[in-house]
Amino acid sequence: MGKKCLDYIQELNDYLDGELDEQLCGEIEKHIGQCENCRIMVDTLRQTVTLCREGRPEKLPAALEAKLGNLLRQRWEKKFGR
Ligand SMILES: [Zn+2]
Repeated sequence: MGKKCLDYIQELNDYLDGELDEQLCGEIEKHIGQCENCRIMVDTLRQTVTLCREGRPEKLPAALEAKLGNLLRQRWEKKFGR
């Protein structure tokens, strides 16, 4: 409760890695079910993570995360901001 969508970004990384505990995982899945923004985020992250893994077996670099945050914000504004 009280979490903003963007607060989920960090957890979503782990969620996609399958490293979250079940309770938190369920929380995120529930939120994704209710929130189209975060569904888009998951799709984008999933693609990004896949790309990252093909390149190198590491977690998202901070710079990429920031870039991703901007990208998502732009998407959200495009979708909801007019
Ligand atoms: Zn959300």
